[in-house]
Amino acid sequence: MAQPLYSTHLGMTDILPDDVRKWQYLEQLIRTEAELFNLEEIRTPIMEQTELIIRGIGQLTDIVSKEIFSFSRGDDNYVLRPELTAPVVRSYVEHHLEQRGGSQKLYYIGPMFRAERPQKGRQRQFHQFGIEVIGSDDPVADVEVIAFMIHIYQKIGITNTTLKLNSIGDPESRKNYVEALKNHLEPNLENLSDVSQERFKKNPLRILDSKEKEDQPFIDSAPLITDYLSEKSKKHYQKVKEYLTDLGISFETDPYLVRGMDYYTETAFELISPDLGSQDALAGGGRYDLLVEEIGGQPTPAVGFAAGMERLLIACEELGIPLGGEKEVDVYIVTLGDSARKWGLSKLSKIRSTGVSATMDYKGRSMKAQMKDANRENARYAIIVGDHELESGKFTFRDMADSEEEALPFQEILKLLEKEKH
Ligand code: AMP
Repeated sequence: MAQPLYSTHLGMTDILPDDVRKWQYLEQLIRTEAELFNLEEIRTPIMEQTELIIRGIGQLTDIVSKEIFSFSRGDDNYVLRPELTAPVVRSYVEHHLEQRGGSQKLYYIGPMFRAERPQKGRQRQFHQFGIEVIGSDDPVADVEVIAFMIHIYQKIGITNTTLKLNSIGDPESRKNYVEALKNHLEPNLENLSDVSQERFKKNPLRILDSKEKEDQPFIDSAPLITDYLSEKSKKHYQKVKEYLTDLGISFETDPYLVRGMDYYTETAFELISPDLGSQDALAGGGRYDLLVEEIGGQPTPAVGFAAGMERLLIACEELGIPLGGEKEVDVYIVTLGDSARKWGLSKLSKIRSTGVSATMDYKGRSMKAQMKDANRENARYAIIVGDHELESGKFTFRDMADSEEEALPFQEILKLLEKEKH
């Protein structure tokens, strides 16, 4: 085969028809379950202002410092959205969604962009689904968000997961903890990895995220954030754990799980799957009680999570979970001769108008080739038409599964098809 002239960019993949069926199956399931949880979909633009993403995600994160796709046009700075929490909060503030009353319980599904080094489960264009509950500081909101996340995976059949849970407390707790962490790390600063030395200056909490080998002994002996929680934060964390336990959602506490940004508060969580290899996080989230204010709104507590669609598909594949069915069509009209083709073309819309899917040959092939094509298309029935059928007004209606045939007027065929479909 000739070498194609063009291909997709590194880390960006086409989702071809056979895979799209799997995506549609998962997306439909997520939408249906989101409705059951009383969540409403929100859709925001693919591009946002660079400034929003820097403020909303944080200057010092890998995403902002290394991974954003950005460009300017005129006076405007555009960035391809790397995640959706900041854009959803932007939208909440811009459109005064608080005026709708109650908490805003929102969900989304869509593409995100990060210029990462591609590997299995890590792409430059990837897709996330997630939810953001804006306007409640109640631990019930944290638990509903986590319950929805877990519920989706269970519904799909992915049960071998670990929920990791932590609290990073309110700003006061975190300030005290960062002090203690710095005191602990400072004497050994030179022995830390370069990345961690950099983080020490700018955002020490993120050192706990380090995967560098030389950092591990210092992380393992570090003070625990949970020992520095204020009474209020302790109570919040306690309630979250209690409600999760009541719901039968098991979790592992992980005092090293942090979300590095200043506006992340209280609950942090991650869902891990052993079926994913090195990129083992299916989803992650937590509270961000300070973000709405950070990007210009009134102080408003919020909690959410984001989950990777590609990793969800990888997990399904590893576990052999079938997603959606084969491609199929209800009716294939097999035609012989020009008049039959004309007849077939006019009947397609009649069949389709009853909610039954229908197709015919587009290439003027032999009857044998058309029957073969009907099989390839997984047609449930064939209607076979030639001059003889047109004269008699009765058409061969063939059940492709058992090859049973009957000669019937078109109206009767239509009735049978309709009856079966509904
Ligand atoms: P994050 O927004 O970084 O907390 O990521 C949330 C989830 O999105 C992760 O747990 C992954 O499942 C998924 N994810 C993040 N980055 C990528 C990527 N580059 N490629 C594929 N999935 C990703």
